[in-house]
Amino acid sequence: MKDQIVCITGASSGIGWATAKALNDLGARLILCGRREEKLKQLGEQLQVEYQLLVFDVRDRKAVFDAFKSLSETWRKIDVLINNAGNAHGLDPVHTADVDDWDAMIDGNVKGLMYVTKAVLPHMVKSKKGHIINLGSIAGKEVYPNGSGYCSSKFAVDAFTTGLRIDLNPYGIRVGAIHPGLVQTEFSEVRFKGDQARAAKVYEGADALTAEEVAEAIRYMLTVPEKVNVADLVLLPTRQANAYVLNRKT
Ligand code: NAP
Repeated sequence: MKDQIVCITGASSGIGWATAKALNDLGARLILCGRREEKLKQLGEQLQVEYQLLVFDVRDRKAVFDAFKSLSETWRKIDVLINNAGNAHGLDPVHTADVDDWDAMIDGNVKGLMYVTKAVLPHMVKSKKGHIINLGSIAGKEVYPNGSGYCSSKFAVDAFTTGLRIDLNPYGIRVGAIHPGLVQTEFSEVRFKGDQARAAKVYEGADALTAEEVAEAIRYMLTVPEKVNVADLVLLPTRQANAYVLNRKT
């Protein structure tokens, strides 16, 4: 990974942040993306490697393409893209779910990921090399109660990942996805709109994955020999059997 240019979306928190730290240790050069510039700056200060910050909302199509166009010729030559930005918004049955939550999830988790991919791809296709890892979720493999909006977005990520792998196959570009179960990050706080008590309950007795454990799996996906592509990796806490069976410690 030494000196490779790796772009991480959603680097301002959780899995993206931990992945940046792990890849810093491998000597990669990093492009850190997110909306919260202050957080990205804090992360940058902790890195030893060269890095660039790109501050944009993945839902804003123009902002996405403008951000990547603003990079120098050197930094535009991205070797690895980690499409990590995303969140759940709400946990409600379809008939009471907030349509704004659906917009946020479909526009961010799906369309945003597609925009970023499209913005990064020209160099990879031209140079016939590259690696893209998308953050799916166990919610993109199985649907759970009240999760139809978020699950729909992550099923779409799964489908897009497969399509991308097929389309990029002639160019030798690796495409894979990692699908974590419960990971303790800011995720639930965002889902429950800042309700920290409700967010904490999600992780109670779950021995949830840490962001660092997911980052370690991403590091593995990136460091297998180039002829190997980890196409689909589901990573669960041992206490979690699937999207809705969790053996909590009492
Ligand atoms: P997190 O701590 O809330 O981090 C989410 C990151 O995504 C933040 O850096 C956030 O940055 C960025 N982001 C969200 N919406 C964005 C937007 N519209 N534009 C640009 N950036 C945006 O959550 P996390 O757990 O690390 O989640 C990372 C990924 O893993 C997500 O795709 C999530 O769906 C997936 N995942 C999480 C879990 C879990 O249990 N935590 C499980 C499976 C999959 P800004 O707020 O600064 O923009």
